[in-house]
Formats: sequence, structure tokens, C-alpha cells
Amino acid sequence: MKYISTRGNVEAKGFIDTVLMGLADDGGLMIPSEIPIISAATLEEWRSLSYQELFLKIFSYYTNDEIPYEDLKEMVYTSYANFRAPEVTPVHPINDSLYVLELFHGPTFAFKDVALQFMGELYSYISKKQNKIIHILGATSGDTGAAAIQGVRGKEGIKICILHPHGKVSKVQELQMTTVDDSNVLNLSVKGNFDDCQKVIKDLFADLDFKSKYHLRAINSINFVRILAQTVYYFYAYLQVEGSADKKINISVPSGNFGNIFSGYLAKKMGLPINKLIIATNENNILERFVNTGEYKPGDFTSTYSPSMDIQVASNFERYLYYLIGEDTEKLSAYMSALQSDGKITIEGETLQQVQSDFAALGVKNELCLDTISKYQKAHGYLLDPHTACGIAAYEAFNGPDELGITFATAHPAKFDEAIALIDIKQEFPEEIEALFLMPQHQTVVDHNKDEIVQLLKFFYEVN
Ligand SMILES: *Cc1c(COP(=O)(O)O)cnc(C)c1O
Repeated sequence: MKYISTRGNVEAKGFIDTVLMGLADDGGLMIPSEIPIISAATLEEWRSLSYQELFLKIFSYYTNDEIPYEDLKEMVYTSYANFRAPEVTPVHPINDSLYVLELFHGPTFAFKDVALQFMGELYSYISKKQNKIIHILGATSGDTGAAAIQGVRGKEGIKICILHPHGKVSKVQELQMTTVDDSNVLNLSVKGNFDDCQKVIKDLFADLDFKSKYHLRAINSINFVRILAQTVYYFYAYLQVEGSADKKINISVPSGNFGNIFSGYLAKKMGLPINKLIIATNENNILERFVNTGEYKPGDFTSTYSPSMDIQVASNFERYLYYLIGEDTEKLSAYMSALQSDGKITIEGETLQQVQSDFAALGVKNELCLDTISKYQKAHGYLLDPHTACGIAAYEAFNGPDELGITFATAHPAKFDEAIALIDIKQEFPEEIEALFLMPQHQTVVDHNKDEIVQLLKFFYEVN
């Protein structure tokens, strides 16, 4: 299998080169040149597989023998060995028609661990194989940075620097990043907002001399390996749910950058018979507006109780658009230029009908989010985090009679206690999170000043 860019101007690449490239060199996103189809019979055979076994089956279609099976196997088992649940992503039944897929049993209590634990192992493997240093550089609004740091801390051949906005991530997120004391980790706490951090990173990646001199690599969800790692739990969830052989299954996904839900779209294209893919967002509802009206237009940014979904530009949207308009790279490039120049993309007619048969979408208001947390706590004794609560509210809006719903729990409630405390629910923190409050923090607070950040990076890469 080869990988190509949505914009058509990158020579076809293998799996490892695709992982290392991150964003395609022509500004597009990398995708497989063809999507393998899993037959119903094969799917049935997979029902009894463990998470790790299923991961190996799915990845084998994509890695092109560039990674020997035994090596891949070792990476997969190591990646998930430090999850707190043996199933990796256990399915929790709530009632006759609703299951929650708990994606938060990794080291940082959010779903990003599932892909980033593996990505850390993979980067380390590639670094050893190619005898090359890997410097990961990224900006985070909280969850991605914490998960990426946990994925590579202490690993040889890799250094990681993460920028986060000073004082603007949740307390637990800050502690998860800054209590790590491994010498290959640098936390920069930037006096500014997330967009300021993101801007510095974009400038540094655009500086091709700096990028190649320091072997910069990205960890954001534009990387195809993250998308692929996330398809595994769509298959796993589907196969674990009782009744999935004869009932329609809907999957509701708390969404921001369109990364997680795109993995679901890919799983469906591979033959997983998902009925409705439900996009749950918050008041930053660009995706809801797109599905309902065909207009994709970044609007004003709103801070909500589910900050990891406070996103206006959904980077992975481009991958979906590519398939929607018939895998036409020229047409896609034209759409992306239009987004640049007009600030929006508009889809109409049959193409819009296609969007509406691919997805349902709901932007959940703050109040409904909190009400949903209270309701499920009272009725089922199950505490939802605010992101998951948006997913549940969207499931309630779209799940039909005789259909089964699986909602993804993308974070543990302890991670977002600020919102949960508002409705007078007192939760006990898991001991791993409790312990963070007693540990010393390691971070460098810097002004939002690119030159100063570059100096710190050079010192980190060359001296430290
Ligand atoms: C990142 C994140 C999301 C959004 O996922 P996308 O892949 O960006 O759509 C949702 N919930 C939580 C808790 C997250 O950390």
C-alpha cells in the first residue's frame, strides 16, 4: 500500500515515510491510496480477538511489511501494557440501548493516549532503525501534550518539547505535563493563548532549514498513524457489543479536530457496518452547521466546559472532503484555496445529501452538557466528563427505536473537575491523579516571543 496527499502533489510514500512526514509537503494530508475492505466473514472471525490482536490485524493491511510482524507485535503489547484496564478500551453498558466505550484508561486519562502511546513506541522504533534523532515539537490545549509526553518520556533517541498556554489548561492537564522529570522532556508555558502557541510551532515547521537541521517531527492528529490507531477501537467496540449481529449500531463521538470521527469514517469505509456516525460538538459548532447546511465556515471561538473541543478549524476535515468529492485532488485543492480566500466552503445538492447520510451532528450547549452529567449520575450512578456528556446528549438526539448506541467516553471526569464541581458533584480522584498534586513541576515560563523560544529549543536540542 502507498500513501498519497489529498492535494496530489506528493510522490507516493511508504508507511514509515508517511509517519515521519506528518503534514504532507504540499500542505495536504496523507491518506492511503486504497482502502482495504474487511468482509463480513472476516469481521465475524475477529469477534473473539483481544484489543492487541485486533490492532495487529488492522495494521497489517497498512504497514506494507515495512515493519516485521514480530516487531509490530512487541510495540503494540508494550503500548497498551500500562493501561489500567486489561481490555484497553472496555465497553460499559448503561441501559438496553446505550453502551459507553471508555477510552480513558491510559496514563493521562483521555482518549489521546490510545494513539499516542503507540506513536511513542513507533517513533522510538524508527529512531533506532534509522539511527536518527527525533525531536517532537507541538502545541497543546491540554490533552494532546500530556499524552504525547507520556508516550515518549525517557525514550532514547527522542526529545519532546510541548508549548502550552500559561495558566489556560486545566490543573490536572498542567500537572500531567509538568510533573514529568525525564531529561528528554521540555515544557514551555507560553504567556499567551493556544493560538499563539500554535502559531510559533507553525512558523518553526515552515522554516525548512530549522526543521531539517533539528529533525522536527509532529504529533498532532494530521498524522495518519493516529487516525489508523483510532480505527481499532471502532472495530473493538462494535464487536464487543451484544446484539451487534442483528441490531443497527450508532456511534456518537465527542469531536473537535475531526480526528476521532474520521477514524470512524475510515472504519466504515473498511466495511464496519456502523449505522449512524454521530458528531457531538459543543457551542463551537462548525461541524454541526456543516452537516445541516453544507456551509463550513470557522466562526468565533467560545470557551466551554469541554475545552478539548473548543476548536474552530477542524484539521482532519480535509480528509473527509477528499472522499466526499470523489477523491479528486484538483477539486480538493480548489476547495482549500477557497477556504483560504473566502473563509468558507459550501457543499450543495446531492453532495450535501451524502454528508447527511454519512453523519448526524449536534452542537451541545453548556447547559445541556451539565444537565446530562447530572441526569446520568442520578439515574445510573455513572459520572460523565463534559466531553462525554456532549456525546451522550447527541446520542439521545439521534438514536432511533431498536437501535443500539455506543458513545465514546473521551476523558475521565477527574480531568475536568472544574465543570463537574459546578453542579455540586464531588468526585474522588483516582490515586494516580491525586499523587500529581504532591509532585514538583518542571516548566519554563516564557513570553510569547518566537526568538526567545528558539533559543530555548536550541539549547535543549544541542546541550541538554
Ligand atoms: C481531543 C479531544 C476531543 C476531540 O477529538 P478530535 O479527534 O480532535 O475530534 C474530545 N474529547 C477529549 C477529551 C479530547 O481530549
